[in-house]
Amino acid sequence: MNSYETVIGLEVHTQLKTESKIFCSCPTTFDSPPNTNICPVCCGYPGVLPVFNQKALELAIRVSLALNCQINPNVYFERKNYFYPDLPKNFQISQYKMPLGHSGYLKLASGKTIRINRVHLEEDAGKLIHREDCSLIDFNRTGTPLLEIVSEPEINSPEEAFDYLRYLKLTLIYIQASDCDMERGSLRCDANISLRKKGDKILGTKVELKNMNTFKGVKAALEHEVRRQAKVLQSSGTISQETRLWDAGSSKTVVMRTKEQAHDYRYFPEPDLLDVAVPGAIICSEKTKIKELPLEKEERFKKNYGIVDKELEVFISNVWLADFLEEALKFYHQSRELVNWVLGPFLEQVNLLKLDPPQVKISAESFAKIVKYFSEGKMNNLAAKKILSLTIATNDDIDEVIRKEKLIQVSDENGLIAFVDEAIKENPKAISEYLEGKHQAIQFLVGQVMRKSKGKANPKVARDMLEKNIKEAGR
Ligand SMILES: [Zn+2]
Repeated sequence: MNSYETVIGLEVHTQLKTESKIFCSCPTTFDSPPNTNICPVCCGYPGVLPVFNQKALELAIRVSLALNCQINPNVYFERKNYFYPDLPKNFQISQYKMPLGHSGYLKLASGKTIRINRVHLEEDAGKLIHREDCSLIDFNRTGTPLLEIVSEPEINSPEEAFDYLRYLKLTLIYIQASDCDMERGSLRCDANISLRKKGDKILGTKVELKNMNTFKGVKAALEHEVRRQAKVLQSSGTISQETRLWDAGSSKTVVMRTKEQAHDYRYFPEPDLLDVAVPGAIICSEKTKIKELPLEKEERFKKNYGIVDKELEVFISNVWLADFLEEALKFYHQSRELVNWVLGPFLEQVNLLKLDPPQVKISAESFAKIVKYFSEGKMNNLAAKKILSLTIATNDDIDEVIRKEKLIQVSDENGLIAFVDEAIKENPKAISEYLEGKHQAIQFLVGQVMRKSKGKANPKVARDMLEKNIKEAGR
């Protein structure tokens, strides 16, 4: 297998975040009852006229710019003709000869650049729902604006394909062009893959892969296909140009159909829509809406806060969490402590209470205050976590809650001496173990003091006092 080079190209379809469809005013809401967001235009009734949604153009331009594409100043739509039950018009309005964006690229963390061949607008089809005894059709999705993003075939491994998809998805989310929810179908990916002898200039016969619903599925399907094609080539067989479906259940690809050629679709310019002269003003205004992109953020988080690897991945893939961290840093400058608290107790509480980001009410300032109080020794770990759990969904005043809950840490020896004495008196077994050299016995005793003080004791002070008192008693 090592004598072959893998060549992969990816075709990603993403739903643009518009409120209405691309050629009519029907809403694009996802969970409406079947066939309620439809009208004669998206259902392809004869005699209706489509009207192009400017918001879809704006978002498509934004994506093209974020992917470093050239924008064609004049574009037009074409009909892609085919019959399928989820396509009521029997054609899809798409772009063929004149895509909106072309000749772009996406940079990966590895430093490699994958060129983007084209970015074009089109409309989505409906959804077929297959039951045991019948098939149903929901046209709500018909006419939802889609952007097709086609890479050049220069991805060289399934892992690299995974990286490309990850950065592409993050880019689309960062620029707010799509929510990229794969479960809701707002991001879909097809792949084509071929193998060639290392050093060969000519590409091998490519196979198209469909039906991969997750990035992991894409990676697994490509891995399977690399093995399958290598086996065929090693036994001097030939690869046939075909479309194969990924079957996640059996972890195999199976033949779906032999590939159509572009001329099978009988493309021709859509006569019901005017050509679009892309306004320079829209390009300029969309440019200003592209802020920091994922790779830039990665660099900045590494450099400014020393966050790397898995931790970095969490912040890069969760814009809301990254913003929260940066906001908290304005009030407390210890990035390491804040990172630990955000990824630790903060996320624990969010998950425990099953909170969505908008339900998290605690301000970054209050959160920073809790972490600061903890590191200054005003509260111990337990108390700080308790305050966090009490305020995460309320944003009540931190100092007020501390007073009410009496959670200020007791660090002064006079306040702890009674608890320490009791703990020593009640646990002779732990004391003798400690004196015999079992140092972990002290931890048990610290726990007793914590319990007696209802979590308010400063554990370090308690430990020092215990050690001192036991040693004195042992003499
Ligand atoms: Zn409609």
